[in-house]
Amino acid sequence: MEKMVYFFGEGKAEGNQKLKDLLGGKGANLAEMTNLGLAVPPGFTITTEVCTFYYQGKNSYPPGLDVEVDRAMKRLESIMGRRFADRENPLLVSVRSGARVSMPGMMDTILNLGLNDETVEGLARQAKDPRFAYDAYRRFIQMYAEVVMGVSSHHFESLLDQAKRRQGVESDAELKVEELKKLVAEYKSSVQRESGKAFPVEPGAQLWGAIGAVFGSWGSARAASYRRIHKIPEDWGTAVNVQTMVFGNMGDDCATGVAFTRDPSTGERKFFGEFLPNAQGEDVVAGIRTPMPINQESATPGNQLATMEQLFPDTYAELVRLYQLLEKHYKDMQDIEFTVQQKKLFLLQTRTGKRTPSAAVRIAVDMVNENLITKDIAISRVTPTQIEQLLHPRLDPRVEKKVVTKGLPASPGAASGEVVFSSEEAENYRKAGKAAVLVRHETSPEDITGMDAAQGVLTALGGMTSHAAVVARGMGKPCVAGCGAISIDYKKQLFTVNGVTVRKGETLTIDGSTGEVILGFVPTINSQVDQYFTEFMRWVDEKRGLGIRANAETPNDVKVARQFGAEGVGLCRTEHMFFEESRITAVREMILAETRERRETALNKIFPMQKDDFLAIFREMRGYPVTIRLLDPPLHEFLPKTEAELLELARLENTSVEAIAAKVKSLHEFNPMLGHRGCRLGVSYPEIYEMQVRAIMEAAGELIRDEDFQIEPEIMVPFIGALEEFQLLKADITKVCDQVLNKLQLKFTYRIGTMIEIPRAALIAESLAKEAEFFSFGTNDLTQMTLGLSRDDAGSFLPRYLEKGIYRQDPFVSLDQEGVGELIRIACERGRRGNGSLKIGICGEQGGDTSTIEFCHRLGFNYVSCSPFRVPVARLAAAQAALKSSSLN
Ligand code: PEP
Ligand code: MG
Repeated sequence: MEKMVYFFGEGKAEGNQKLKDLLGGKGANLAEMTNLGLAVPPGFTITTEVCTFYYQGKNSYPPGLDVEVDRAMKRLESIMGRRFADRENPLLVSVRSGARVSMPGMMDTILNLGLNDETVEGLARQAKDPRFAYDAYRRFIQMYAEVVMGVSSHHFESLLDQAKRRQGVESDAELKVEELKKLVAEYKSSVQRESGKAFPVEPGAQLWGAIGAVFGSWGSARAASYRRIHKIPEDWGTAVNVQTMVFGNMGDDCATGVAFTRDPSTGERKFFGEFLPNAQGEDVVAGIRTPMPINQESATPGNQLATMEQLFPDTYAELVRLYQLLEKHYKDMQDIEFTVQQKKLFLLQTRTGKRTPSAAVRIAVDMVNENLITKDIAISRVTPTQIEQLLHPRLDPRVEKKVVTKGLPASPGAASGEVVFSSEEAENYRKAGKAAVLVRHETSPEDITGMDAAQGVLTALGGMTSHAAVVARGMGKPCVAGCGAISIDYKKQLFTVNGVTVRKGETLTIDGSTGEVILGFVPTINSQVDQYFTEFMRWVDEKRGLGIRANAETPNDVKVARQFGAEGVGLCRTEHMFFEESRITAVREMILAETRERRETALNKIFPMQKDDFLAIFREMRGYPVTIRLLDPPLHEFLPKTEAELLELARLENTSVEAIAAKVKSLHEFNPMLGHRGCRLGVSYPEIYEMQVRAIMEAAGELIRDEDFQIEPEIMVPFIGALEEFQLLKADITKVCDQVLNKLQLKFTYRIGTMIEIPRAALIAESLAKEAEFFSFGTNDLTQMTLGLSRDDAGSFLPRYLEKGIYRQDPFVSLDQEGVGELIRIACERGRRGNGSLKIGICGEQGGDTSTIEFCHRLGFNYVSCSPFRVPVARLAAAQAALKSSSLN
């Protein structure tokens, strides 16, 4: 470690934006803004490497750090003309954390560091405002005691409430200096009482205490839980930023605020933000006072509050100039923290702003059209998860709703669930598989896991930039914030609103797009896509190489898949068609039939229905390929189960119930996931596949002949584990195909391929590929058989395996690349060796998973097939995979 401290100030910084890994996001941006000549209070950043050392070396610092920090403090003193710990003209600093990626509210901030009973008097004289000085002091004690000494904030809050009551005032800003002095004394004794230690008076000790607390907070449980949810590596560490204080609470010509360079909810190109006059730091985000809009555009309809533009016109104009400059420089929407000290504007932070999924798409599209970024960058700026969330349902507008109140539309989307008042309860609900809406006064970092577990979040306090709003937007979770009309009683586990009482466990619906709070359950409909989404997806499709198909078997699913942009059906499971009420009896007759003739009679009843199915599917997918898989499920699934079903069959078969029951018993499967299923059924009962193939070919042929369709049906055989199996069935299938072509006097191409879902199939891929025209990886079965794991294990040992890191991901969601993935790699290589023009796809559940899609792209697959709703997600993931591999080459 050559250099541990990076200075910024006076228009020059030792770091810059590129050093994010070393300086953290905040530190790198402070350096960058300083280099841009913006009004950033000077300071320095202690690197993330020091944090890593701290954790490796059992909470100790690397040698020489103290010397570097001292040197940087001296430099600050000389720039500011003030001295740390000086009684007359004290330098005060803030200490903040800053990891590589922003972790809102996770790490702690300490402001006004350097104050004690002596320096506070100096500050009072300098500012000519003792009230301000003591207000800063009491805030410092509270923050420091909380963050460094672990004293809970409620001790201070109740003392503050008492003080306000004593003076008969509503807000902190109205407290007189004498009252604040008293409060400082009370705070200090509270610290002594609660922590057993005196509040540190020596500023040097305060500084090191704060630095240690920032590093310590990286290891805190809540930071760890945020990292787990957002997949942030443990070893990144945080940097520490020490920066000269500027004051937004020095009087009415001061203010502090947060602004976004575009609307973070809609993405609209408008300057959007909130501020509070005569306030400091966290007041805006903490939701203690209701923030005011910076301009009319940021105001909610009916707003009566003055705007920053009205109150501070010149400073506002300067802020506008700076936000435009910053957005141009960073080429992305920025989230800016600013402070106004005696009308002078300071920027405390800029970072890439969190946004809703639809805002992400709109901003990406707008910025391309504004020539700010390329299409490639636009594609990389929207995550597949955001696309998924974007398509999330919204409230059905045709349904009548009982709206009890309205809060701020803090994070769009709609959610219904039972009311809970704590994060713990929300988690219990998730574990029980029930939907909850988390209702809180306001949220804090401790609530992250609860917010993640709940369907939506409702808070009584806080604005559009409150913790709840920012975190919910990041999670893509519906949130209504600042809903002042609700009055929560945590003890009684209820809230009241406009004369209505809502208790824990009652169902509530919130609409984060409108701010509405609604009693009871409201059904949702799928959201509609707008022009930005359509344009964005067009660029996505231009970029990707992988085809995206859907797993669908009903005409309606196929239609939805087309609407979402699927370029074909990758898996049409025909067994669903057999389970239908009107068909199941014929299917049973067919299975239990003792002779081929009887079996054929039964199949003849099913044939016309099956043909109609295929006609409908081909029509919906006109112009795109359809892969139809021949019957797969275990035989016993078709067997009669109830007495009535047995009776009915006995009647039809003209035999006794006992005879039927004996036959059923003989066909019973001990392990339903293995055994007599898939192509083995086809070998046992060739008539079944013959009937299906005839239905496919006749449906396709008639559409080609009568309706001018172009179809090349793809017939897929499931559960192949031996070459001879495939050869046998292929001969049967070909025979039927030729018969149909002859009968219809037509010639069209059809393909016969196989699923690869038994490990042995992957290993014999070379010889299989000599016979098969395509492979489709059935990774559901392949996962079960490779890992010895059934889907039902999801509820038993799997959660623990994930928690312990034995599995990094649920292998039914994301391919296990060392196991199933390895078999796929082998099968692709051997398969291509056997057949240079082999088409390769995947149709297991993992086909819709982002990392699986990237994996398939790297292996040169022709397509991935997933459920219709995941098609847009898969399209984006495929485009991003293409971008990633082109940037690697
Ligand atoms: C598979 O095994 O991955 C597959 C697609 O088939 P099914 O899920 O129908 O067994
Ligand atoms: Mg399967």
